[in-house]
Amino acid sequence: MTRFSGKSVIITGSSNGIGRATAVLFARYGAQVTITGRDSDRLEVIGQKMLKAGGLPENVNVVVVNLTDSDGQDQIIQSTLNRFGKIDVLINNAGANFMDGTMNTDQSIDLYHKTFRINFQAVVEMIKKTKEHLIKTKGEIVNISAIAAGPQAMPMAPYYAASKAALDQYTRCVAVDLIQYGVRVNSVSPGVVTTGFMNAMGLPDQIQEKAEAFMASRKECIPAGVCGKPEDIAELIVFLADRKRASYIIGQSIVADGGSSLVAGMHAHDLKDMLGL
Ligand code: NDP
Repeated sequence: MTRFSGKSVIITGSSNGIGRATAVLFARYGAQVTITGRDSDRLEVIGQKMLKAGGLPENVNVVVVNLTDSDGQDQIIQSTLNRFGKIDVLINNAGANFMDGTMNTDQSIDLYHKTFRINFQAVVEMIKKTKEHLIKTKGEIVNISAIAAGPQAMPMAPYYAASKAALDQYTRCVAVDLIQYGVRVNSVSPGVVTTGFMNAMGLPDQIQEKAEAFMASRKECIPAGVCGKPEDIAELIVFLADRKRASYIIGQSIVADGGSSLVAGMHAHDLKDMLGL
């Protein structure tokens, strides 16, 4: 028996980044995992990685859909039930920060709808649709938020930040509602993590590398001096989904950000330098 033997897990957005690392970890721990996204080629590769990590072929279920389509959500759930007979864990990980050339208060209303559609509404819909199944298994939900949710402002991407803030409050509300049925709900709030996140914003690799190097080299951005790896976040997601280890954590958002959310600009600098001593 391994840690998640016999547990059926859905991970949205598992074709890349944090979701991919989480799928590999759950496979290593013996779970039955539904991986899903829109990119079938990448899902094929991740399925192979899960097998290499020790997963069994019969424990990997691939569903290629757009999560913002109601039919797509139904397919993820139905396919998981058909294959594994139940749902024990739902990881709401898929998300994106879109760019269309507008920023700050000039961001378009189309961008607002697109951003909230995947980062917030899809999570609400997946929870509503899986609720009855998770109550049957006394299951777990882990939502993937972001430190962009605040309390610090993120003026260049207000809709992304607000969608994650909405998600945090939804996590708390749903956690208190569902714990009465034995379902635990929590979330994870990453800081900067090296994934396909910036590619999905339409930014090429070299811009992503430049931005990450900039942030990692400045202690007012990332005090730890390094960007997170998807595996760092996957470990936390798996921990929260593990009732044996996290049973008393309800409705919390656990931050993993190399210290980013702790620094206010002036505190990141040496007092001696500031005073010229
Ligand atoms: P990636 O871009 O690497 O992965 C995003 C995943 O979401 C992909 O598998 C993608 O699949 C899936 N996805 C996006 N839109 C859809 C859609 N409409 N339908 C189905 N799947 C979709 O990003 P990350 O791994 O970084 O992001 C994972 C989560 O972590 C997100 O919620 C993000 O907000 C959060 N986060 C990330 C941070 C970072 O610095 N990377 C920081 C804080 C939070 P496909 O393309 O195949 O459809």
